[in-house]
Formats: sequence, structure tokens, C-alpha cells
Amino acid sequence: MNTDRSSARRIHVTGVVQGVGFRPFIYGLAQRFTLTGWVRNTSAGVHIEVHGDPNSLDAFTLAITAEAPPLSRIESVDSQAVEANNGYAHFEIQHSYAQAGAYQPISPDVATCDDCLAEVFDADDRRFRYAFTNCTNCGPRFTIIQDIPYDRPQTTMAPFTMCPECQAEYDNPLDRRFHAQPNACPVCGPHLELMPSPVQEVPPEWDYLPLNEIEAVRDLIRAGYVVAVKGLGGFHLACDATNAETIQRLRKRKGRPAKPFAVMMPDLGTVLEYCEVSYAAAQALSGRERPIVLLPLKSGTDIAAEVAPGLTDLGVMLPYTPLHHLLLEAAPDFPRALVMTSGNYSDEPIVTP
Ligand SMILES: [Zn+2]
Ligand SMILES: [Zn+2]
Repeated sequence: MNTDRSSARRIHVTGVVQGVGFRPFIYGLAQRFTLTGWVRNTSAGVHIEVHGDPNSLDAFTLAITAEAPPLSRIESVDSQAVEANNGYAHFEIQHSYAQAGAYQPISPDVATCDDCLAEVFDADDRRFRYAFTNCTNCGPRFTIIQDIPYDRPQTTMAPFTMCPECQAEYDNPLDRRFHAQPNACPVCGPHLELMPSPVQEVPPEWDYLPLNEIEAVRDLIRAGYVVAVKGLGGFHLACDATNAETIQRLRKRKGRPAKPFAVMMPDLGTVLEYCEVSYAAAQALSGRERPIVLLPLKSGTDIAAEVAPGLTDLGVMLPYTPLHHLLLEAAPDFPRALVMTSGNYSDEPIVTP
């Protein structure tokens, strides 16, 4: 066995490798194989230099593809031997830099992961009911990026300075939020705001709405209003999918007389009560892309016929942001299906913030 410690390699990885926990993953691998050197993002991909035992370098290089983080999509791993200089005492994540003309694909936004969801509904967690909870494994990506390489200063999160607790998570290689660019909490991150429509009369109920924005929106939906909800990528118009009169009003406003609307339901269990769901459909619904899945609607449900006039199939999706989960939280007097449709006039692009 070659115990010469002077071997070194430069490795260049391309594909969806930014905003998916790739550098922390590389950091962890380097620790495991006792390698020194660095990793950094550039607009051309992820660059790595590793020094150490040649067998460990081989194992490290193989593990990059074999154990890649779930959200990544590696296109190429290019490895070259370089002269070892023994100049590194440890392995570090270096600052990113931009390379003119270079480009890497960016991860799409990813549905809230189970760990984050558990925090949002845990009364003892500091992110309890925080609508913008995210981590390295989930949350906004494409929507918040203004330039590459993907780093917080190049995202719409740049104005939100992390509080000490969030910063500690961001800096800790063992934390689920290590280098999670949109990391935020109720102390330091964005907040919800509820605003009356600038073009409509303020509803008489407005003065009686609770101070909590989510409960207020739920009250408006219960009362038959259509609420514009800022989500990932643009505004959704949300309303009670069981209220025929509300949906007729929505159709008139959108200039969409008959085209079916998709609905969002709080969880798979609810979808099973409303629709015929095959195993494949259940898998698709729960996938991190959160597609709208067309499902045969069971007869005798309380979904208004106006949602998909004349059709036996219903387009259904599951919540994919903490805000959706909070808005759709089950309550005896709250609808179990909301129409969620893009906030635009028929055939025009979605309204973005
Ligand atoms: Zn998460
Ligand atoms: Zn914070």
C-alpha cells in the first residue's frame, strides 16, 4: 500500500451541484477520507483540490458520484493529478467566485422536507409556525437566485442578515442548514403581511380579522373570498374549492369561463378520500417536484362542480411550502381543498412580485 502523503488531485464537477448541499457533502467526504484541500463554487461548477493518501483520493473521487446528495444531478466529474504542495493543514470551503461566460444549471425549488415540516409544527421549536422555514434539503432555489454562483449575496435573501442562531447553523458542517443560502427564522428572516386589495373594497370583515396573518387568510377563505398568496415563482389565487359562488366569481375575474382549476389538499390522506389514487399517482403527488396530478374524482364529494366543469378528473397537488401547510392545516370548519390557480388574467403570464 502506498502511504506517500504527497498525492493531490484537482476535481471539477458539473451539473446541478449548487444549492443542493454539495459543498457540505464534499466537506464531509474529505473529513471521512482524511484529505486536506478545498472546495469552492464557481459559475463553471464545483472545483475541488484534495491532498492525501492515493487510495483515499480514489475512494473520495468514486464517492462523489456514488453518494451525491439527493437533489444534485451530476453531469461530469473530471479528475486530474496535480503537484502536491502539502500547503493545506485541513479541508475548507472557500469563497465562491464568478467566471465570465460560464454557467451551471440551478436546482429548481424543492418542496418542504419532513424535517422542516416537523419543526414548523413543533411548539417548542424556534421555527414554530414560521412560513419561510427551509434547509439544505428543501426550499426555494431557482426563484431566489439573481446570479450565479449560488450564494446568499446573489439571492433575494441578501438583505436578511442572519441572527446568531441561524449563522451558527449556517457555519456548522454538521448542521442540516450548513451553507443553506435561504436559511432564516422568525427573528431574522422575511415575515408574512396581509394587505387589502388595492382595487377592491376592503371587506367589512377586515376590521375583525385576527392579528395572525394565516388565521386571517383562513377566515377570509371561509367567508368566500379569493386571496392572492405570494408563493414561489409568483402569486396564486386561493379560495374554497367547495364554494360554487366563489369559484364563479374567480372565473369571471380571471376571464376563464370553463378551463378546469387545480386544487391543493393538505395531505395524501385527504386526497385518498376525494379521489381514486393509484400507487404511481401517490408517488408522483408526494414527489419533491410537487406536480399537479390528474385523478379520477370520487362521486358525492363536496368539491364544487365549477372547479372542473363537465370533467370526471381533478387536478390535485400537495402543499410544497410551509405557508401552504399552514394555510391548509386541518380544522373542522375549514375546507379540505383549495383552488390554487396562477394569479393572472387568462392566457397572460403569472403575476410576479
Ligand atoms: Zn428542509
Ligand atoms: Zn435567524
